[in-house]
Amino acid sequence: MRYPRKVAIGFQEGTCPLHCPKCFAFSGKSGRKKKVHKMSLDKAKWLINEIAEWEQKPVIQPHIFTEPFANKDLSEIIRYCHEKDIFVSIITNGILIDDSWTQFILSELGRKDTISFSLDATKQETYEKVRGNYELSEIENRIQYLLEHRTDQGGPRLSVNYTLEKENFDETKAFIEKWKYKADAVRVTVAIDDNKKIPEMFRKKEIQNVSECSFLDEVMTIDSDGHVRVCQYDAFGDSDFGNVFEKGIMGIWEGDGMRQFRVRQKKGEMMQDDYCYQCEGACSTKLECREMGDFIIKEAAYTIYYNRRNI
Ligand code: SF4
Ligand code: SF4
Repeated sequence: MRYPRKVAIGFQEGTCPLHCPKCFAFSGKSGRKKKVHKMSLDKAKWLINEIAEWEQKPVIQPHIFTEPFANKDLSEIIRYCHEKDIFVSIITNGILIDDSWTQFILSELGRKDTISFSLDATKQETYEKVRGNYELSEIENRIQYLLEHRTDQGGPRLSVNYTLEKENFDETKAFIEKWKYKADAVRVTVAIDDNKKIPEMFRKKEIQNVSECSFLDEVMTIDSDGHVRVCQYDAFGDSDFGNVFEKGIMGIWEGDGMRQFRVRQKKGEMMQDDYCYQCEGACSTKLECREMGDFIIKEAAYTIYYNRRNI
């Protein structure tokens, strides 16, 4: 049986202090805004229990479109995952990480857990353009504190993210240089636009009918109501492969609906109504690995990860 490498579960969706202009869920550009919806703790544990039975355990990303540290259940969910020998991968804007969360992160998470901070800027004025009206330096200081207070045993792997767009293009190099010897990893990726296209200014060449998206093979996305979405771009449930509370997680991952969808996507047979139709997000999912000095580089056409060695 082929298990997903990562399962993103919307334990609590729709709660984010930011409204990033690029955000599929909160920018409001599509005329829709993500609403708050929370999964009960019993249901959350029911899903974790199923995953705990798998021969190969994935990491759980405990959120989709939200700020994960807005979820008061997050600490209990993480502890429950750890009891079951499951690790977590969290992507955060960092705004809600206060002293109490900081202590929790340092004491409860280990190096098999990851926290990725989405910063997208080195300057405050740029941060306000691409993210929002919060103090970038406070978030940077919080990351620095976490980096300095980890021990050999305690504290997660820490990485920083830079989603590339027109407004922050000029700071990309400065961002990489600023963080590449501090954080465990730096990720730079081009944001696809509202039509799921690589923006014109970043296109390296004409992109032909994209197929074989690794997300479909490796990452499962379970919404707060239990419905399975095609991937994490689907902020409003426009795709639906069924409900895990009726069919089980693997029942859907290996079920006919997802299997046939993957085959059609690989053959380039997506129809206009399919969520993946003409999506260019797949260009950033097929990563190739190489070594470069102090780093292991993972790279695809529109994304690059600098992973520090020996961390
Ligand atoms: S921080 Fe993430 S979820 Fe929140 S508005 Fe920005 S892109 Fe959307
Ligand atoms: S092709 Fe696009 S929409 Fe479809 S799974 Fe990949 S990234 Fe998501």
